[in-house]
Amino acid sequence: MSVRRANESLDLRSIMSGRQKSVLIAQPSGLEAICFLLNNKEPSELCSELQILVRDWQTSGPNLAKLLRQNAALAARVRHGRTLLVPTESGKGHLLWLPTRSDLNPSSWKVQALAHFMDLVVNPQWHKLGGPCHRCKKYYIKKTSRQKSYCSRKCGAMTTGLAATQKRRAEERTNKLNRVQAAAHEWTKTQTRDPWKDWVSGETKVTVKWITRAVNKGALKVPVKDVLLSRNKFRVEGK
Ligand SMILES: [Zn+2]
Repeated sequence: MSVRRANESLDLRSIMSGRQKSVLIAQPSGLEAICFLLNNKEPSELCSELQILVRDWQTSGPNLAKLLRQNAALAARVRHGRTLLVPTESGKGHLLWLPTRSDLNPSSWKVQALAHFMDLVVNPQWHKLGGPCHRCKKYYIKKTSRQKSYCSRKCGAMTTGLAATQKRRAEERTNKLNRVQAAAHEWTKTQTRDPWKDWVSGETKVTVKWITRAVNKGALKVPVKDVLLSRNKFRVEGK
């Protein structure tokens, strides 16, 4: 099978020479290469395929056995492969896995994505792959096992800061509504001929426009004047 041998050596040569760039990225056996590809859009077929694989893997638990039980096509593709030894300039060698299925072209992006995915699942550090970050949506390498939601202190702090601001604003709005509602209740007991919104606005320094909006949103109840207090002995409903 001289043709096949020629193909195999060509594959290895192109990998070694860097012509198959994406495979070369995977050479340092850390998670940096996977992270880099997951956070990138180019080459689009490779990145999107790898992103789907990793997302499904994460969703499974990660539980590789479960993932392969659920995805028969993937299970068939990863069942058999061949391994190429990619030596480094240190004492370490890196095993590059490629599927052997004849219907899969080894130079296709799909196969390369699969090779990267296999690199991840056999990596002893697989559990250190974190992401997507809750704020910036990037994948990252966890610095501690407790690091679950954010890629960095910066992203975590920004989100916490944002949450605090949102909480403070919500509290301020509740306080304002309470003040306006209390004043509206006061209006029902007064002898004033002013429409309730004008009177309440004067009392609370909250604009009529704000009060109208709050009423329209259903956040404020329209006050109803007490019949006995009303000079005309009619129910006077605020407008
Ligand atoms: Zn982030």
